[in-house]
Formats: sequence, structure tokens, C-alpha cells
Amino acid sequence: MSFTLEDALASLRVVALPMKTKFRGIEVRETALFEGPAGWAEFAPFIEYDARESLAWLESAIEAATIHVPAGKRTSIPVNATVPASNDVSEIEEILSWYPGVDTVKIKVGTGIREDLARISRVRKVLPTAKIRVDVNGSWSVDDAIFNIRTIYGEVAGNFLEYVEQPVASLNELRELKERLIVDVKIAGDEVLRKAEDPFAINLDGAIDVLMLKVSPLGGIKRSLELAAHHKLPVVVSSALESVVGISYGLKLAAQLPVLNYACGLATSALMKADVGVIPIENGAMSVSTPEISREMLEKLTVSQERLEWWRNRITEVWRLRGAK
Ligand SMILES: [Mg+2]
Repeated sequence: MSFTLEDALASLRVVALPMKTKFRGIEVRETALFEGPAGWAEFAPFIEYDARESLAWLESAIEAATIHVPAGKRTSIPVNATVPASNDVSEIEEILSWYPGVDTVKIKVGTGIREDLARISRVRKVLPTAKIRVDVNGSWSVDDAIFNIRTIYGEVAGNFLEYVEQPVASLNELRELKERLIVDVKIAGDEVLRKAEDPFAINLDGAIDVLMLKVSPLGGIKRSLELAAHHKLPVVVSSALESVVGISYGLKLAAQLPVLNYACGLATSALMKADVGVIPIENGAMSVSTPEISREMLEKLTVSQERLEWWRNRITEVWRLRGAK
């Protein structure tokens, strides 16, 4: 059975989700939803991504629209809180309250080591037994990373530091860092995989200890599972700041994994002021489920005609690129 561009455009809804706090430099998350025989699907490449980079996101959405995901190995997925790189540490207690029961906190860092340390120590104060992860988004040099990771480990996080995500940008830098770091802190890779030209072609040996899996930018559940099997590393499933539709798909990926030893970064719905449906965070976990999509919220959050046109053109362009491959 074929699902065509026309089918996708016929059911297309584009929504703008207002966020409670600035994250990744944005306060509104614009994203596209369409419906296929298997249900709602999300096409959510960030606005600045070109057609080539958006292609995997479209593959994931088409898979979600057309293929029913079988029941997985688990029905509930432990999740982490996500703390944005805001320098106003007084907000942190409130931010953490959006994630009831979590025992793992991912903190965005890389805005200056003093601010980073202040943010981490405030989290430690509010949740003293929580595991801490920091995400650098590749912004440090190897030398900075060595100094900063030792400082974070030594001064504020200690053995609570679960891993450092993408401290440096490239594969070679990650490998150099692992060689020179000395302190026993795990390194996770995110951009190194999801921004790779061919994520199967890279050799991650000696570069990272943990792999981030994001279902949309990696091209869907099947491909994400293949990547996890190919790289043979422990994984963490994380969101790309999708609406509840994409989050639900990430939860289904997490449910399918043969082994899952880490809390997943799928609780980012907590950062949204409004969404098209709800999967609640309860006792630090989210249930693997297909949320009911609220027609009322779809209406309420709908973008302008102009933005809708922009997304229609974007989907058309990426779909054609897919066809051309
Ligand atoms: Mg990351």
C-alpha cells in the first residue's frame, strides 16, 4: 500500500507549540503532523534545516504513518528531566517540578564553566541523589573539555555524573578526549551520529561509551534499531523536541530496544506550555502509548496560512528529494 505526498498533504496540520522556557534558542516549536493508515506522524526538522538534512525526518514520519509498531519489551520508559542552558538558576527548582519522580537530570552546559557549575550545583541542591548528565552540544575544544569535565566531576557532580554528552564536535576530537581525559567519566555521542553523512559508516570505537538515539533525525524506528545493533553501544533514546506525536514514537523505539539501561530524554513535553495531546510523566516514567490527539488543540495551535504554505512547500521538496534518491 502506498502513502503518497498527496495523502500527507491532505491530512497535514502544522502547529506551533509555545514553550515554558527558552530551549535551543527557541520559544515556539513549529512542527508538522500528518495522518496515515497507522496513525498520526510527525515531521519535525528544525526550521533552519535544509531538504537534505530533513530527509531522514521525513522517512521517520512516513514510517510512523504507515507501519504499525508491534508491542515491545517494555510498557513504561524511565525518563530524565531536561534543564535548559539558562543562566537564571532561580528557575531550576520550578523546572525540575515539571518532571515528577525523575532521578536523572540532563543539564545543558557550554555557556561558560562558571555558569555551568552554578546550574549543576543548583540541580544537585534540589535533587541531591539524582544522576546528572550534561550536554555540551559539541561546543568545547578538547583542552576545554578535559578541564571542564574534571572540574564538573571534581567540584559539583562526583560519582553522580552519569555521562557527558557530545563534549567536543568531531569523531577525532572525541577519540583524543577519551585518551587524555583520565577521570572515569563516560562520554555520550549525539551529533556525531545524527549529523553524520552515513551513520552506519562511522567507527565509534574508542570515541564514545553511550549512543544517543533520536528517532526522527535517524530516519525511524527500524533504522534506529539497526544503528543500535550496528554500533553495539549502550543507548539512550532522546527526543528532538517533538510534539507528543513524535514523543510517542520515541517511546515506542525505546520499548523495542533489546537492552535499555538508561533513563531516556523523552520527557521534553514538560517544556511545552501546550501540546496536541498528553503522555504524562508519572514516577519518573512515561508509558508507551499512542496519545489521543485533541482536535481542539490542533485548531488552537495551528500556524498562520503563510507558515502552512511554507511547510507544504518544504514537505513537497523533501518528498521529491526522497523520490529522486
Ligand atoms: Mg544532545
